[in-house]
Amino acid sequence: MQSPNFETYIFGNGTISACYLNTTLGVPCGQGSVPVIGVDARSVGDVQATVQFASKHNLRLVIKNTGHDYLGRSTARGSILLWTHHLKNIIYEEAFTPDGAPSGETYKAITLGAGVQWYEAYDAVEAEGRFILGGLSAGGSVGAAGGWVQGGGHSAFAATHGLGVDNVLQFTVVTASGKYLTVNSYKNSDLFWALRGGGGGTYAVVISATYVTHDRFPLSEVGFQANFSSPEIAKTVITEYIRLHPSLADAGWGGYSYLSAKDILFLYVAPNISLANANATLDPFVKLAQNATGGLAGAFTRHYDSFYPWYKATFGTEGQVGTHVELASRLLPRDMAENHAAEVTDVILGLEGGAAINFISGGAVSRFDPDSAGLHPAWRKAVAQARQRLRSKLDILDRLAPGSATYYNEATLYERDFKKSFFGPHYQRLKSIKAKYDPDTLFIVASGVGSEDWDGELNCRRH
Ligand SMILES: Cc1cc2nc3c(=O)[nH]c(=O)nc-3n(C[C@H](O)[C@H](O)[C@H](O)COP(=O)(O)OP(=O)(O)OC[C@H]3O[C@@H](n4cnc5c(N)ncnc54)[C@H](O)[C@@H]3O)c2cc1C
Repeated sequence: MQSPNFETYIFGNGTISACYLNTTLGVPCGQGSVPVIGVDARSVGDVQATVQFASKHNLRLVIKNTGHDYLGRSTARGSILLWTHHLKNIIYEEAFTPDGAPSGETYKAITLGAGVQWYEAYDAVEAEGRFILGGLSAGGSVGAAGGWVQGGGHSAFAATHGLGVDNVLQFTVVTASGKYLTVNSYKNSDLFWALRGGGGGTYAVVISATYVTHDRFPLSEVGFQANFSSPEIAKTVITEYIRLHPSLADAGWGGYSYLSAKDILFLYVAPNISLANANATLDPFVKLAQNATGGLAGAFTRHYDSFYPWYKATFGTEGQVGTHVELASRLLPRDMAENHAAEVTDVILGLEGGAAINFISGGAVSRFDPDSAGLHPAWRKAVAQARQRLRSKLDILDRLAPGSATYYNEATLYERDFKKSFFGPHYQRLKSIKAKYDPDTLFIVASGVGSEDWDGELNCRRH
């Protein structure tokens, strides 16, 4: 698991069942929340057999791909595991037609098996001289066809190319009854809508996802760093930084940052923007930061011929996995950045240990119809995402945008109303689609659609 805190289990009396990686040999290990038995699926038939077996024997099933879920949704105590990691098929097609579409509707598309990870997808798409929008993390370890896209799927290139849910053309799935279905805008279109943002592990087992690929593009990168010697300086610089985002998103910029009362660090990229243009866009902000900090601020710009060399230089090496972490986050509406930047800054500076801003929305993301996918419609008005290691800071984050949404994949288990925060006005429609394809609720995950009908362990129905 990415977050091994979810491998442990705490009984009501406080006793912990766990098996820690650094346990001394000879000390007994507990099973914790790791499934007791599992299937290493290699084919559609393996998946069908697993879901039918779990349904027949009324077993708690968990689907695990990479185990990256920040809310521990890919494990459960006493469960049977369906492991999709080895479903690694990759097929590129110059003229892919979604099943049921008119023959003239073709895309340069790539079909990725459920176990393909982004580093494998990027290699395959690069070999075809194309670009694919995907997750960005050290070593490219996030799953390309699992929880990422089913939760929304953000990227630093979302402002120009939309989210994962806006780029997927078709899924194949195995339903709870074992049926193998093709799912797209023409076939099982209700399930297609739900699978695009309605949450992983909830409707069916995805076997493959087909994504549109795009022409390659040159890009510019900006890295910025500043240290703050006083809270006032931090506030001046961060307020201006927050204000930049609507216009940066409109120009196609995206990326990642970390900010606190002590410092700020960001790395942003934009397709089809020259170095001169990048410098001109960022210069006023860099100058303001240099003045405010008395020279403790600096920036660099770089140009890359295409995505792949940038990705290799930035995310090419494997990152740390196995850290105990729980997150909370809020989508930051454009209006907050435009008109309330100082208040946003106060909230962020109130977070002990700082916050991360994922600049992964705005631009193209806002141009898609908010009801075109199951995804929370608040994404379409968002300009960025403020993310924080949990430490009970939910109330503070709430002040960023009261009633605003959060990203299903980068959130806390302690949302007061997960239906509203993760799915908003799409909740009832998602729930009825789930009832149609999974009437006996084989697929159930923490804070997922339908989970309110189950107890905290998700083992017994409440009524
Ligand atoms: C290091 C790191 C970097 C990240 N970077 C990004 C990023 O750039 N952009 C972004 O949007 N998110 C990012 N995330 C969050 C990521 O999207 C989620 O962790 C996501 O849930 C991972 O999906 P997975 O399939 O790889 O993981 P898993 O934990 O295996 O699965 C996640 C959920 O999806 C379900 N699931 C998995 N496969 C299937 C399937 N085939 N069918 C049905 N359900 C399935 C599981 O049951 C579980 O509920 C990152 C997370 C980490 C840990």
